[in-house]
Amino acid sequence: MHEFSITQSILDIALERAGEDQASRITKINVTLGDLSGISEECVQFYFDFLSKDTIAAEASLAFDKVPTQLRCRECGTTFSPDNSAWLCPGCKEQKMDIIFGRECYINSIEVE
Ligand SMILES: [Zn+2]
Repeated sequence: MHEFSITQSILDIALERAGEDQASRITKINVTLGDLSGISEECVQFYFDFLSKDTIAAEASLAFDKVPTQLRCRECGTTFSPDNSAWLCPGCKEQKMDIIFGRECYINSIEVE
């Protein structure tokens, strides 16, 4: 159900922006999605098709811009993309990380007519 509320807010924001632009139709919604967001594109698409019915976004396509995970080691400051779930710093082998990229989930832009 996580995706359901996210999809609802994606749609709400898109409709709001389209309203500001006085658009008659939303053709495309570009969504930025981090690898760590835990959000399934398929689920969002599924809910979107359901929720957008009877709105001006009914025929909009969703495009997902995936953001790879990037971490920064708190010990030595090395930034890296983890290639496994262990999250081991390649510089000092520490496991204390800050997430720099990867949790994104927002509308980057919408295209309207
Ligand atoms: Zn380190």
